[in-house]
Amino acid sequence: MSAAVQSQVSLKPFNSFGIEVKARYFAQARSDDDVRGLLAYAGEHELPVMVIGGGSNLLLTQDIPALVVRMDSSGIRLLSDDAGRVVVEAEAGEPWHPFVQWTLAHGLVGLENLSLIPGTVGAAPMQNIGAYGVEIKDVFAGLTALDRQTGELRDFSLEECDFAYRDSYFKRNPGRWVILRVRFALGRNAPLHLDYGPVRQRLSEHGIEQPSAQQVSDAICSIRREKLPDPAQLGNAGSFFKNPVISAELAARIRLDQPSLVGYPQADGQVKLAAGWLIETAGWKGYRDGDAGVHQLQALVLVNHGQASGSQLHELARKIQADIFKRFGVELEMEPNLY
Ligand code: FAD
Ligand code: NAP
Repeated sequence: MSAAVQSQVSLKPFNSFGIEVKARYFAQARSDDDVRGLLAYAGEHELPVMVIGGGSNLLLTQDIPALVVRMDSSGIRLLSDDAGRVVVEAEAGEPWHPFVQWTLAHGLVGLENLSLIPGTVGAAPMQNIGAYGVEIKDVFAGLTALDRQTGELRDFSLEECDFAYRDSYFKRNPGRWVILRVRFALGRNAPLHLDYGPVRQRLSEHGIEQPSAQQVSDAICSIRREKLPDPAQLGNAGSFFKNPVISAELAARIRLDQPSLVGYPQADGQVKLAAGWLIETAGWKGYRDGDAGVHQLQALVLVNHGQASGSQLHELARKIQADIFKRFGVELEMEPNLY
């Protein structure tokens, strides 16, 4: 094992909220051997282990009394290229957006709508990352994970990952698996997904009616840059709450009071609400309590204006949840992983 274990390491550079907490021990894993070595080290020293990637989906509310292992492995490879179906594998530590750009530069279609999502390849299956009508389950071809209970490697199929909206088998079973590498089935002439939000309109504004996958990616990057705070400038973890899926009856009741309610009918008859709309309508957009706040352009994003602690952000989140439940009878579920 080449990974060095350090003690009392600040996690501020390793979480996109920019929250100052310390890891009791910290190490970066660049290979399967590093992961195995660090797990053995933790076993010998009776330490719990926390695996992280880019730290863009974490809310850290305390010092972490564990060995924090940051995945830093690299490598992208073409596994097969068969009648337009191309399987690509990337190591867990590869940063997500550069990986998407790599696939586009190789003429591969499928990940363009997931451009500019922060984080790593290895974390992407955790919550089945999604944006603009595409989730990784749509192009997922398998992954390899290390079982921390047995030390064995296991390949997971699409079915075994049991992906759902911002959810997966791995999110429901935290701590057992270290995802080492992920495979995606991409196309050379696969259809593009343009009918979501302002994507087609943004392309039209640039006179593009028959876009390439790269042009879709560029359009999505420009939309995202306008709406979302850059964690390097303003700490955040993206959407703080999942979009709630509620019964059609409750949606109809809310609409009596709020005719402009934004709701998307689901295949099972339920209705998905835009959590950002609920929070904005309740008046929280731009709210600030000390350094914990709600972003002024996108009410779904909680932000750290500087020195907010994880507990302060968590407290703000709880106030918003209580208020939304009181006003609309809707429960908001947190999206970031709370530690
Ligand atoms: P981390 O935050 O480091 O970890 C997340 C969880 O996964 C933790 O529980 C961690 O223990 C676990 N984990 C990480 N790596 C591994 C591994 N290799 N093996 C096992 N467990 C692991 N998400 C979306 O779905 N769609 C979006 O459009 C989107 N936009 C965002 C925009 C912004 C500005 C920000 C800040 C976040 C956004 N996110 C979005 C959330 C986040 O980027 C994703 O969830 C991303 O996949 C997290 O990756 P990460 O490497 O940073 O994971
Ligand atoms: P938006 O386009 O303003 O839309 C608001 C909400 O309405 C979104 O959350 C989206 O749900 C839903 N929506 C919009 N069009 C829809 C359609 N045609 N069918 C069904 N649902 C629709 O949202 P935004 O905040 O700018 O984000 C754009 C995309 O990036 C969304 O897909 C969003 O999920 C993703 N994103 C995610 C994060 C994160 O941290 N998880 C952060 C930023 C952006 P969905 O969220 O279910 O798509």
